[in-house]
Amino acid sequence: MDTPQMPAQFAESLPALFWLGDLMPGGLFIYRAEAPYELLYINRAALSIFGCDSPEQFKALTGFTFRGLVHPEDYEKIQDSIDRQIAETAHDKLDYVQYRIIRRDGAVRWVSDYGRLVRLPEYGDVYVVFITDATERRRAREKQKQTELALAHERQTNEIKSAFLFNMSHDVRTPMNAIVGFSELAMRHLDEPEKLRGYLDKTVTSSRQLLRLIDDMQELEQLEGGPVELRSEATDLTEQIELVLDMFRIPAAEKKLTLEKDLALPPDTVLVDQGRFRRILSNLLSNAVKFTPPGGRVTVSARRAGVSDSGFARYVFRVSDTGIGIGADFLPRIFDSFEREASSTVSGNTGTGLGLSIVKTLLNLMGGTITVQSTKGEGSVFTVELPLRLAESVSEESAASPAAPVAAPHDQARILIVEDIELNRMLAEELLELSGFLTESVADGCDAVEAFRSHPAGYYDLILMDIQMPVMNGYEATRAIRALKREDAQKIPIIALSANSREEDRRRSMESGMNNHVAKPFDIDYLTEIIYRSIEKHGEA
Ligand code: ADP
Repeated sequence: MDTPQMPAQFAESLPALFWLGDLMPGGLFIYRAEAPYELLYINRAALSIFGCDSPEQFKALTGFTFRGLVHPEDYEKIQDSIDRQIAETAHDKLDYVQYRIIRRDGAVRWVSDYGRLVRLPEYGDVYVVFITDATERRRAREKQKQTELALAHERQTNEIKSAFLFNMSHDVRTPMNAIVGFSELAMRHLDEPEKLRGYLDKTVTSSRQLLRLIDDMQELEQLEGGPVELRSEATDLTEQIELVLDMFRIPAAEKKLTLEKDLALPPDTVLVDQGRFRRILSNLLSNAVKFTPPGGRVTVSARRAGVSDSGFARYVFRVSDTGIGIGADFLPRIFDSFEREASSTVSGNTGTGLGLSIVKTLLNLMGGTITVQSTKGEGSVFTVELPLRLAESVSEESAASPAAPVAAPHDQARILIVEDIELNRMLAEELLELSGFLTESVADGCDAVEAFRSHPAGYYDLILMDIQMPVMNGYEATRAIRALKREDAQKIPIIALSANSREEDRRRSMESGMNNHVAKPFDIDYLTEIIYRSIEKHGEA
């Protein structure tokens, strides 16, 4: 294509044009279209964009070439773009680029550059370029983009929040409704023991369901909120799987299901977070048991799929059932939070829709994967693949088999309950007394320190400490007791009994000098076992 040419009769007017150029509000410069792209003219406005007062200053800054005036990091890119645009676009169009420049005072600015190749008499092919400082415009645009992004993010967060609240209130209401309703019925049938037992049974089941929802929520919040610390415990996988299977023997038998295992694992010791590993399996197994009708079969299998040179082995775990199966349209959403297939809930199955979401999140963290195959009405197979590091030597403590049940201490142990809420205090007193303990109670940390101080060593065998209390909280009280100048002050077992149940709360309890941390609401059998264990350890020490 021909380069547009300035008619010859204008040649003599060039100096006049340059003079006019100095009056222009925008920047204008002209440079030769051949290397070294020497500048032929620059107007005042363009000089001022570069922070220069004179062409001399500009020459010192740029060497008076086009290359010298563009930021070195942007030159290649924009030269390419200019060449392309000239080759591709019609001659009556200006090419357009944006690039950075470095001003005389060192400031980096953005300029918009509209240019055009033309042929001038005497000079030959030149680029005529109109520039403006685009820095503020870019900043404004950037800011607007960020505002829009923030707004979109906020909108999305709000949508997630409302969906979450909607699900939460629905899922909390369901068991709450049963708890309130059956307690009410129990009150009305106090002298009909059979009925009363039935109502209370339902109240207990619903309370457990509510608790599971809260546990699941908390687990998911922790996993997604990160950072999550995975433990690395020397583990016999077969033993862990057996532990999980044990949890489901009774529920499976009650539903008349056959619970089978096919464990073909070599006797490896691997490093894994045991609690989380069991959680993955038990969530899968709990679903298999839940969604398989009486007479069906649930199978857990495990095998090692290979060992790498780097000391990792790959394991495949499978939980299969002959249950109701999962519809193809639900499968893609099965690992999302709160998702439950409509057909699986009609049969009265309770759940939170969080179990598989937790499994998936955990496996992501552990570097594993999960897949599912299912046919409606025939059953489902969940397959977990998990690479685990092989432990070279097994330390005695971590490889120890699960502790044997502990025997109750010989004498009746006296427990100091520190709890500000009267109902909770009453509950702990009654449940612990039923389990054979003597109890005494105080309502805040300050009274706890005083009770301990004013009794001789050995009077209390253990302290159960609430955390959030008026006057003095559980952490402060524990520190105060541990600081008392009495030998037993360092030794008496103190167990946090708190509604704060995150890992961080547990850590804070331990840091304040407690020996253990049990979450409320507590399971009395579990608490009793922890108390026995602590008293036994204390006795040995
Ligand atoms: P929950 O079991 O608490 O509802 P999950 O996240 O564990 O939540 O499971 C989500 C849904 O996936 C279940 O409600 C059910 O619809 C479906 N599902 C999971 N496992 C199975 C299974 N083994 N058989 C049939 N459906 C299943």
